[in-house]
Amino acid sequence: MFWDKETETLERSALEALQLQRLQATVRRVARKVPLYQQRFAEAGLKPGHIRSLADVRRLPFTTSADLRATYPTGMVAVAAGELLRLHTSSGTTGKPKALFFSRTDVDNAAGLMARCLTMSGITRRDVLQNMMTYGLFTGALVMHYGAEKVGCLVIPAGPGNSERQLLLMQDFRTTAVHVTPSYALYFADFLEKHGIDPRKDLALRKAFVGAEPYTEETRCKIEQALGIDVYNSYGLSEMNGPGVAFECVHKNGMHLWEDNFLLEIIDPQTGAPLPDGQPGELVLTTLCREAMPLLRYRTRDITSVIPGRCRCGRTHRRLHRITGRSDDMLILRGVNIYPQQIERVLMSLPQVGRNYLIELEGLDEMIIKVELAKAGFDGQVGHLVQLQAQISDRLRMELLVKPKVELVAPGSLPVSEGKAKRVIDHRTL
Ligand code: AMP
Ligand code: ZN
Repeated sequence: MFWDKETETLERSALEALQLQRLQATVRRVARKVPLYQQRFAEAGLKPGHIRSLADVRRLPFTTSADLRATYPTGMVAVAAGELLRLHTSSGTTGKPKALFFSRTDVDNAAGLMARCLTMSGITRRDVLQNMMTYGLFTGALVMHYGAEKVGCLVIPAGPGNSERQLLLMQDFRTTAVHVTPSYALYFADFLEKHGIDPRKDLALRKAFVGAEPYTEETRCKIEQALGIDVYNSYGLSEMNGPGVAFECVHKNGMHLWEDNFLLEIIDPQTGAPLPDGQPGELVLTTLCREAMPLLRYRTRDITSVIPGRCRCGRTHRRLHRITGRSDDMLILRGVNIYPQQIERVLMSLPQVGRNYLIELEGLDEMIIKVELAKAGFDGQVGHLVQLQAQISDRLRMELLVKPKVELVAPGSLPVSEGKAKRVIDHRTL
């Protein structure tokens, strides 16, 4: 099913012509309105007229999250104050937030892209969507909300947490789809099990749109099995509207990125050099339609690759591989580079392992991984626990090349956050 078939299946040559026209308009707009870009263009001797092909995007300066913080609150705005319709912020972990503005056109566009995503996964006006993301300054909930309303679904703005109420809403209003973080989806699956609810029999749930934080294919399988549903990977970031940037179609083989709205590059995060389709690197995005806050070559820090070839669904917009981590999530332990997703992949492939884990870094360079046991995965025999612990550390050593300490903990004993999960705590004294 298509929301906007013509755009979604545009031949590559037509799509690229559209991208070039929109890129040129965006460059002209920022050259007129945004002091940061005016200054960077002047330093590089660059004029909007120099952008004559899509490859010329490489002549443009990068934009980083540090630039957005440095120009906080309104330094990147490219429209008159009266044109601003909505403000979101992105939390980040330290320092000033990033302020992200939308004009009326931007709000409509973001909802339109979300509507494409939902329709692509088979959602129609007959669906009931329970939105379990945080409402507020975070883009995650509102952008999905507007998109689902555009499709015509009944939208339940539940927000996260309060699992009793989530369940009640699901039962009373026959929720068919949820929008949720992977960590809360796993937690909720546990909650249902604890309360003797069999989602396959007792609920009308069919699909979950899962995103906002990195997760592995193994975690997708765990959620699908526990809830008896299809899980679609949903990718976005506040700097690019929030959710609805890239999303899976029914084939679940990578996320179509809406290339008529975003120009995508994959670069080597160290050197900035472009990488070809198929090779993993940092995703860099340029907005092609944004009015209030256009961004050139935004460094997402997310590591992914473009999946070569066309998808069977007929869409021509290229697909991104699941995000394997953020370049700034990388841990360095005894000189070895480690992404938390590598650990998650190992843990979630083991049936005895439950649904939550925590990585703690301590002392000089020590990694301790706390792993919840699955409820059905432990028979109470200490010998089996010791065996499992050894099995997990061996597998992790093979994957990571360093051997972490593994502690097995009771199901449900690790903290669960309502928003994005915090998987790594660094207490190191280095
Ligand atoms: P925010 O700007 O707060 O919405 O956070 C955006 C960031 O969340 C992205 O840059 C990614 O690092 C992460 N993220 C969002 N969706 C996904 C996803 N489906 N898979 C992996 N990471 C994601
Ligand atoms: Zn497809």
